[in-house]
Amino acid sequence: MNPTTFNHKARILIIYTGGTIGMVDDPETGTLKPFNFDHLIDNVPRIKKLDFEIDHIQFDPPIDSSDMNPAHWDAIAHAIADNYDTHDGFVVLHGTDTMAYTASALSFMLENLNKPVIITGSQLPMCEVRTDGEENLITALQIAAATTNERRPKPMIQEVAILFENYLWRGNRSTKMSADNFNAFKSNNYPKLAQIGLGIHFNEEALWRLPFTRPLNLRCGMDTAVTFIDVFPGLTAESLRYQLAMPGVKGIVLKTYGAGNGPTARWFSDAIAEAVERGIIILNVTQCPNGGVHDRRYYSGDRLANAGVISGHDITSEAAITKMMFLFGQKLTPQQVKRELLTSMCGEMTV
Ligand code: ASP
Repeated sequence: MNPTTFNHKARILIIYTGGTIGMVDDPETGTLKPFNFDHLIDNVPRIKKLDFEIDHIQFDPPIDSSDMNPAHWDAIAHAIADNYDTHDGFVVLHGTDTMAYTASALSFMLENLNKPVIITGSQLPMCEVRTDGEENLITALQIAAATTNERRPKPMIQEVAILFENYLWRGNRSTKMSADNFNAFKSNNYPKLAQIGLGIHFNEEALWRLPFTRPLNLRCGMDTAVTFIDVFPGLTAESLRYQLAMPGVKGIVLKTYGAGNGPTARWFSDAIAEAVERGIIILNVTQCPNGGVHDRRYYSGDRLANAGVISGHDITSEAAITKMMFLFGQKLTPQQVKRELLTSMCGEMTV
């Protein structure tokens, strides 16, 4: 891990979508509700000490990220693409609840990305004395301005990443792990991209690098004809068949036990095989926070693989469902969707 150099003249675009970081108390309901960007920045006087040129765009109105949907992802991705040539980096302020989904979605939508898109938020609102939001925002801005140590410096981060408290994580490898801790995010199957303490120390070997430089290609248009099905002891044939027959569904992320296992009973694999035959694409993802699918290890996983279920390896469920939405949205043939699901497109899984 090396010490950091910064582009002190960096021009950074903040895209404020909402989330706890900008929320204030609503005296009527006693709950937290999103507030506007000026209020947020008024609470961060230290930001003025940074030399960066900072522009901002805000969602109108800012939202609790539990309201996030693919139209919002389009808006964020468009804001990045429209300002891509004029800015050195992007900081997206976002609620924590769906941050990992947004990070995954953006990683697929921003093809050929070679500038930093740093997503952050906070557990406590900026207006609270013990807020983690101020630290997170300032560190995210610094990471967005961090460069390599070369004679012709390049952005240190050239991917979508989540900065939270002490760590920077690959966006499409991240999961929200805690509703309480300041260190709320983690990549259970991928190393941290940077460690934040007294300094910011990048783990350069873990950073995403494209082998070529091509213009950013914005690929919007998610298809939401996808869903999750969870296996659990007690799942019945009726319930499974009902879920598999959901009208209009094209793709299912099947959340299985351990190394990709489900019940060995015939009703289970038969129902799955029939759905695959009907043309539904099923991706096998483990319910375990750590590790991945090894579908040929056990009899039950093997039956799923033989039924035509695709292994999701160590992909997170957030990346799995957004990748499916993305691939169906690209109007690919079922064969192409299957092929892409087996491939790591932008570092989202270890194949
Ligand atoms: N409900 C909030 C949100 O996701 C939680 C947060 O920001 O931490 O917008």
